[in-house]
Amino acid sequence: MDNIQMVDLKSQYKKIKSAVDKAIGDVIESAQFINGPEVKSFQSELESYLDTKHVIPCANGTDALQISLMALDLKPGDEVITPSFTFIATTEVIALLGLKPVFIDVKKDTFCMDASQIENAITDKTKAIVPVHLYGQAADMGEIMRIADKHNLPVIEDNAQAIGSDYHTSSGDKKTGTIGQIGCTSFFPSKNLGCYGDGGAIFTNSDELAAKMRMIVNHGQSKRYYHDVVGCNSRLDSIQAAVLRIKLKELDGYINARRKVADYYDNFFAQFEGVNTPVRSDKSRHVFHQYTLTLEGIDRDALNAFLAEKNIPSMIYYPVPAHKQEMFSSFNSAETELPATDWLGERVLSLPIHTEMSEEQLAFICNGVAEFMKIEA
Ligand SMILES: *Cc1c(COP(=O)(O)O)cnc(C)c1O
Repeated sequence: MDNIQMVDLKSQYKKIKSAVDKAIGDVIESAQFINGPEVKSFQSELESYLDTKHVIPCANGTDALQISLMALDLKPGDEVITPSFTFIATTEVIALLGLKPVFIDVKKDTFCMDASQIENAITDKTKAIVPVHLYGQAADMGEIMRIADKHNLPVIEDNAQAIGSDYHTSSGDKKTGTIGQIGCTSFFPSKNLGCYGDGGAIFTNSDELAAKMRMIVNHGQSKRYYHDVVGCNSRLDSIQAAVLRIKLKELDGYINARRKVADYYDNFFAQFEGVNTPVRSDKSRHVFHQYTLTLEGIDRDALNAFLAEKNIPSMIYYPVPAHKQEMFSSFNSAETELPATDWLGERVLSLPIHTEMSEEQLAFICNGVAEFMKIEA
């Protein structure tokens, strides 16, 4: 069996190599490395794909989240409601800006923010809600937006793991990241739409927020050398934009390939009690950034080690939830009780999933899990 990886970017590149190599060569020839025509074209192509009014490219997904929060004019000590069960970037930028992350629990089946807990967490200091579409599945945006609108709170969607996912609404499908006031994504290479370095983008339908965020990404500049607000330097470079233009055309195909892998796993694992396959919400289309099992009554860490012996990688996303991280100790967040988050943290295991997986590799991985189950039984 050839080397199985969590993500196989090399095989994916080989299929688009001639287009990518030419596009990168063209950028170098043009010598327009920053804010060149490739960035503008990618921006408008992504706006059409997402059916959103404004895409603001930036340097990475963490910056996208930070810039979104900066655009809301919050004051130190203001509170932002967010899940603890997520990649650290979501919650880190809140604290970085002197705001207070208020962690709420997730649902055990969808891994996303439990909307029924939002209202309990709202105080007069609450200024925003940041849901995360974890592993490629949309959070319960219908309910989140209903509550947010009722309390007049802006919603920033962390869409780094779910770009391309459709959320079903009564007025038709909407792309995740375009439902709240602001959406954020990352083009980190392993993401569903990844470039060949760092990259990110912010989405909004608000002209006002878009204008502000375009200033913030460029040193708060309204016109050259006139700086109206404190901003930062966060740019998507032209080479990454050129790669992303090619990969955006492949995104729906990439998503289908991932969904096929998920179907294969779902079918195979149905026979094992305690190996819970990821639930697919009927409110959205799962894009399977990760394929994450929840193991009940099975020694997760032993399975992780058993698979590693067979050169089958598996990962725990994420072993320590945000509220238990040392960086947030000043908020006494470890005392926050998030039973579903803690429960999941001990039981989740993500298996390899990417666009280039063969049936042979899938069978090998599944047989590895089956062997472990036999020994344990
Ligand atoms: C990857 C990721 C980010 C951060 O993106 P970077 O481009 O690595 O800064 C933020 N949130 C989530 C949920 C992510 O998966």
